Amino acid sequence: MDHSKNTQENTTTLTTIRGMRDILPDETPLWARLEQVARDIFGRYGYRELRTPILEKSGLFARAVGETTDIVEKEMYTFADRNGDSLTLRPEGTASVVRSFIEHGMDRQLPWRVFYMGPMFRYERPQKGRYRQFHQIGCELFGPATAVADAEVMSMVMSYLRAVGVSSQLTLEINSLGCPSCRPAFRQSLTDYFSALKSNLCEDCQRRLERNPLRILDCKQEQCRELSRNSPHTGQHLCGGCEEHFTSVRGFLDGLSQPYQVNNHLMRGLDYYTRTAFEVTTLQLGAQNTVAAGGRYDQLVADMGGPATPAVGFAMGVERLALLLAGQDTVKPPLVYVATLGPAAVLLGLQLAEALRGCGVGVELALAGGSLKSQMKKADRCGAAHTVILGDEEATHRTLLIREMATGEQRRLDYQEGLHFLAAGFGMGGMVP
Ligand code: ATP
Ligand code: MG
Repeated sequence: MDHSKNTQENTTTLTTIRGMRDILPDETPLWARLEQVARDIFGRYGYRELRTPILEKSGLFARAVGETTDIVEKEMYTFADRNGDSLTLRPEGTASVVRSFIEHGMDRQLPWRVFYMGPMFRYERPQKGRYRQFHQIGCELFGPATAVADAEVMSMVMSYLRAVGVSSQLTLEINSLGCPSCRPAFRQSLTDYFSALKSNLCEDCQRRLERNPLRILDCKQEQCRELSRNSPHTGQHLCGGCEEHFTSVRGFLDGLSQPYQVNNHLMRGLDYYTRTAFEVTTLQLGAQNTVAAGGRYDQLVADMGGPATPAVGFAMGVERLALLLAGQDTVKPPLVYVATLGPAAVLLGLQLAEALRGCGVGVELALAGGSLKSQMKKADRCGAAHTVILGDEEATHRTLLIREMATGEQRRLDYQEGLHFLAAGFGMGGMVP
């Protein structure tokens, strides 16, 4: 097949999709650490990993996230597959976790604690900290309806953020969003308040006023935020049960000496939250100031057709954590560089490199050959502690010329001795075959 005539055209289109990005090898060590610490910390609290498909039937999100949310109204990647079924790239994780909980009858194993991590997709306006493919790490706990469960979940989020090294820049904000018995009155008071100000709301919020006035509190437009600041808030409308629950949550956080701020105007962008809602915010990412968000959703499982089961959970934005920690995790350099001069030395170099890696030592072997000077330059650049220089002489006698990069000191050892010497420095000497 002749590919040549399309080359010109293709090179101009070979980029990622707007709002989606490559996480390059310089960044992946930080990402791997963010994931590893999540496994460690969440594991200590008894959470186990759940992996759900990235594609779900579209109806799942309309039902779980809410018809009147921004996500469902305008942000989902929805398309028909070859069979004509409507599928959606998941915009968030909780809907799939709840589907899985119901599908596998996990109400027989309460409490059910799971965490997940992976890409999510929302058609938003891309900017720093806001992408169309982004990643979340999240947890969900099914079963307990207690305030101590909410406090433990929030404490777990903060432990995680401390462990990855960002907690000093963060604030935990909490609120109670009420429940089906107190929300109607709150909703009505919002409708009354915003109706009088309707012409000052953005176009979207004028529509929200009819369909779901709670959404106005989550609007990012400055004019709506301004009006929301003085609007009725959830604190004025909580029923006795919600009030008691919220007081109790705060008591547990106080008892743990976990700092927090009550923010009565905190509203979540998803419909399913009840009672406790929280966000962890930073002043360092501009408008994208929330790094983690979550809360209780006691009605969702039943709303989705499952056995009534209270639940609480949260999700963190990995890109935003990575922005806060940028430059902190660097790639580990190989510890040994193996330079080879002439064809006879290549096999010895390959054997040595493989033997050292077998002992747990990171090795870069000069695969492209070249002059001694150019290979030494590469050895320098890669940051190796030792370089082994192999030429005809070494190949013939199976010896190793080992140069310590920091001092320039060189020593010649026979192959086995050299292997021990290089591996011993890394605590793996005993494993040398
Ligand atoms: P925001 O208010 O910033 O739009 P949200 O309320 O839509 O966030 P959630 O759905 O609760 O966010 O998702 C939890 C976390 O996932 C957010 O706090 C954020 O850290 C991250 N997140 C959400 N949307 C994006 C995005 N488009 N790009 C990057 N991270 C995101
Ligand atoms: Mg959003």
